[in-house]
Amino acid sequence: MTGGCLARHRPMRAAVMTGPGRLEVQDVDLLPPAPGRILVRTGATPFCVTDVMNSDGVFGKEPPTILGHASMGVVEELGPDAAGVRVGDRVVVHGTAECGRCFYCVRGRTDQCSVIFDRPDGPPPVARLADGSVATAAGNVGGYAELMSVDARQVVPVDTTVPDTVLGLLGCGVTTGLGSVFNVAAVVPGSDVAVVGCGQLGLWMVQGARLAGAGQIIALDPDPGRRERAAAVGATATLDPAEADPVEQVRSLTGGYGVTYALEAAGPALAQRQAVLMTHRGGTTVLTGCEPLGAELSLPQVPIALHGRTVVSSQNGRVRMHHDIPRFAAMLEDGRLDASLVGITEFTLDEIGEAKEAARAHRTVIGVIVPGER
Ligand SMILES: [Zn+2]
Ligand SMILES: [Zn+2]
Repeated sequence: MTGGCLARHRPMRAAVMTGPGRLEVQDVDLLPPAPGRILVRTGATPFCVTDVMNSDGVFGKEPPTILGHASMGVVEELGPDAAGVRVGDRVVVHGTAECGRCFYCVRGRTDQCSVIFDRPDGPPPVARLADGSVATAAGNVGGYAELMSVDARQVVPVDTTVPDTVLGLLGCGVTTGLGSVFNVAAVVPGSDVAVVGCGQLGLWMVQGARLAGAGQIIALDPDPGRRERAAAVGATATLDPAEADPVEQVRSLTGGYGVTYALEAAGPALAQRQAVLMTHRGGTTVLTGCEPLGAELSLPQVPIALHGRTVVSSQNGRVRMHHDIPRFAAMLEDGRLDASLVGITEFTLDEIGEAKEAARAHRTVIGVIVPGER
C-alpha cells in the first residue's frame, strides 16, 4: 500500500504561483509522500477570495507554491505511517489540519493546530517543477492540481451522495460559515442576526442562522444579486450597505438596539468595525474576513470595553473536523442545507485565470476548479 518507489516522480498538472500575481498551469512531478502523508486524486477545489490574495502574493505565500487551500478527492496512495484512511476513501481535504496532540489541539482549539500555523521552516515541498525547483502546497493542500500530497491528519473520509463540487466547499466555506453560527456565536433561537457580506461564506451563515432558529436574519451586501440569494436561503431582510449607514439601517430594523449577533464575512476592516457597532450592548461579533497581511482593525473603546460587546475570531468556524464535516455533509444530503442557491461555477484547471478574475470581480459567488482526468 505504501509503495515509495511506485510513487516517485508522478507527473501531474498543477497551477503554481510562481511570483506575485503569476499563476501558471505547469507539468510538475509530485514527490513521493513523506511519512504521515497521503496522495489524494483531486475531485473539486474552490477558488475563494483567500486564493485571490494568495495568488497576488499579499497573504504570505512564498513562491513557488501550488495554490488551492481546501479540497476533496479520493485517496490514491498512503505514505509510510499514514493512518486513519484507506486507499479509495472519498475524503474532504480540510484547510486546517487537526493533529490532536499539539499545544492547541489538546486545549480543544483544533482550529489553531500547529500543523498549519507553527511551521518555522514553512510548508514541506510536495512537487518538483520543470526547472528543478521544488514547490510547496498552499495551506498544505495544493488543490489546484490533479493530485494532492497532504497530511493524513488533514482529511476526513465521508460517505455521502453530495457531489464533488459541493463537498469541496466543506473544507473551507461551509465549515467556516456554519461553524461561525453553531460553534463560535452559538446563536440562541429567536435572537436577531446580521450577516455582513453575502458571498458563499455569508450565504452559509444565513442558512446556519435559519437552522439555529434565529429571529431576524438581516443580510448586508452591496451586490443586488447576492442580496437576492441571501433572501432565497433564509434572510428575513436584505440591506445595501452603500445606500445609507449600515449600522443605522440595522438599528432601525431592531427597535433601535441592534442585533445580538453580527457575523462578518466581508473582509474590509471598515465592514468589521460596522459589524461590531451593529450589535446591541452585550452583543457578539464574529469576524472571518481578512485584508492583505498587515491590515489593522480599529475599534472605539467605549462600545467594547464599557458596553459589554464581545468580538471573536472564527478561523475555519472553530471546526472539529471529524464531528462537523460528517454532520454538515448529512445536512447537505437531506436538504436542510441547499448548495444550489449558493451559486457554484465550475472551471477546468486551464481556466484557472478566469476563475481568479471572476472571483476578484465578484462575478461568481464561488468558483470551483475541477482538474478532471489527465
Ligand atoms: Zn494540532
Ligand atoms: Zn476558502
